[in-house]
Amino acid sequence: MRSQHVWLPEPVRVLSRKQELETTWTLELEPGQSGKGGFLPGQFNMLYVFGVGEIPISFSGDPSQTERLVHTVRAVGPASSQLAASRPMATVGLRGPFGTGWPMAAAEGSDLLIIAGGLGLAPLRPAIYHVLNNRERYGRVVLLYGTRSPDDILFREQLEAWNRLSDFDVHITVDHAGSDWTGKVGVVPALVPTLAFDPEDTVAMVCGPEIMMRFTASALRDAGVDDESIYLSMERNMKCALGHCGHCQFGSNFVCKDGPVLSFDRLRGLLSLKEF
Ligand SMILES: Cc1cc2nc3c(=O)[nH]c(=O)nc-3n(C[C@H](O)[C@H](O)[C@H](O)COP(=O)(O)OP(=O)(O)OC[C@H]3O[C@@H](n4cnc5c(N)ncnc54)[C@H](O)[C@@H]3O)c2cc1C
Repeated sequence: MRSQHVWLPEPVRVLSRKQELETTWTLELEPGQSGKGGFLPGQFNMLYVFGVGEIPISFSGDPSQTERLVHTVRAVGPASSQLAASRPMATVGLRGPFGTGWPMAAAEGSDLLIIAGGLGLAPLRPAIYHVLNNRERYGRVVLLYGTRSPDDILFREQLEAWNRLSDFDVHITVDHAGSDWTGKVGVVPALVPTLAFDPEDTVAMVCGPEIMMRFTASALRDAGVDDESIYLSMERNMKCALGHCGHCQFGSNFVCKDGPVLSFDRLRGLLSLKEF
């Protein structure tokens, strides 16, 4: 898939930049040689801001569209802030795609519970596009999405459009809201016990802050979903993305190459470990 040397960032141009939230932007990039082979939902690229740093950023676009690479970036530090500020025609460095994807093939025939917290919706959006592009391959599909406040809801118009589909259930909850919010209030793991679903025939894909994933996995287990059917996307600081440097080592896993998507049976007992 990759024609570029895996260590060498390929210069590609930013094609467009769209503000999503106060500190979050979606960039579309030229695919270059690296991106021409496509990607799997759940994979990520290493994006290099020249002179600042290189960071892992998940794909957030439709995997069936390979003419542009779509990444949604929250500005939290030097590299992500510079990346998010990149204007069309700016050049960034690209290495990838890296990592494991969501279990799209293994989940065929099953019901899907897609559970996102905050920016975690971005790495799950390619999985949602894939499901909608191949709707007949999956059973019931439910998206649970939680954010801190209504102002933090990512891809709002798209969520509304998905919610209008007859075969896709979208449930949104916020931690705190003013009196103008008429939706649900509460944390996203609390939605799990309110759903009627068949735990033996459900695959869950979860992405969000680690604490949210920990409580969500626990709620799913309580509901009877097997650990092997619960998949989480782990975010750990990483540098090489190739399983050499050890920055992202998490127990016996390297998040960059064994993950970022890992099933809960491989993560059990590790989720409470702090990153140093
Ligand atoms: C596989 C993977 C996919 C990712 N996908 C996205 C994405 O789609 N969009 C996006 O905005 N961000 C994503 N991230 C997180 C992104 O890589 C970090 O925000 C970025 O590395 C921060 O770099 P910085 O130089 O801007 O800030 P730094 O100064 O390095 O860090 C700023 C703050 O963010 C924390 N931080 C740094 N790296 C990470 C990390 N990997 N995970 C959690 N906290 C971190 C630091 O501890 C610090 O508190 C992903 C991370 C991984 C590992």
